[in-house]
Amino acid sequence: MSELRSLLRAAREMLATDSAALEAEVLLGEVLQRPRSWLYAHDRDTVTPGRQQRFFDLLRRRAEGEPLAYLLGQREFWSLTLQVSPDTLIPRPDTERLVELALQHMPPEHMPPERPLQVVDLGTGSGAIALALAHERPQAHVLAVDRSLAALQIAQVNAQHLGLQRVGFVQSDWSEALGDASCDLIVSNPPYLRLEDPHLQQGDLRYEPSVALLAGADGLDAIRHIVSTAPACLHPGGWLLLEHGFEQGAAVRQLLHDRGLSEVTTELDIEHRERVSLGRVPEK
Ligand code: GLN
Repeated sequence: MSELRSLLRAAREMLATDSAALEAEVLLGEVLQRPRSWLYAHDRDTVTPGRQQRFFDLLRRRAEGEPLAYLLGQREFWSLTLQVSPDTLIPRPDTERLVELALQHMPPEHMPPERPLQVVDLGTGSGAIALALAHERPQAHVLAVDRSLAALQIAQVNAQHLGLQRVGFVQSDWSEALGDASCDLIVSNPPYLRLEDPHLQQGDLRYEPSVALLAGADGLDAIRHIVSTAPACLHPGGWLLLEHGFEQGAAVRQLLHDRGLSEVTTELDIEHRERVSLGRVPEK
């Protein structure tokens, strides 16, 4: 039986990346069901052969490129721990910007209990955006929509674990199954990569569901579809907020304008790149 510290040393060599030490500890913590801090105080403890085997299996898969989030089955987003699987995109920090902007359009003081805001997250995946919004605005009605039943099931489990009981779930191809003019805010992080995007061959993206990443030759197919259909589900004055690629701001603003939305703008992400565009259905 090997000591923890020699296992971690071997693991760092196997992973051989900048984050090897951290990832090795996270994976060993997972196998031992202990926090990383525990490992430091027990680095001379021995590990049973069965657990050692499981640790090296995970390391091998990680070294081959499988995303850490899929190996652990979870990822943090907006300080919430979310279950993820290869049926869902791995939530990214960029998308927290979309959550921030959505929250700005959900002022708590504008939500009387008799008329809670109706918010829809199109293509919810693991539920990241919908659940972050529901967590911050418990008085709102949030509907998480996805075409993939497997993704919706994960989003539902996440809602249960987080105790977010007011979130609804609907299987639908974008807004197709929603009625007309019933919501105040629609948010989406749709697929927006070009078929030829070289990033698709790199890192975690190789393992993520292509339906959550790819959107035609220019990466705008899903956004075009959402912009043309989703505003029908918004009240006058309601907002549509879309995440997109940092080079797609001008194109998305044009689509929003062409659809007749007003107050069209693009907001930047933490790296000062155009990342979220929004527009509003004009008041009558
Ligand atoms: N932002 C993601 C990436 O470039 C893409 C996610 C998406 O298409 N919605 O990795």
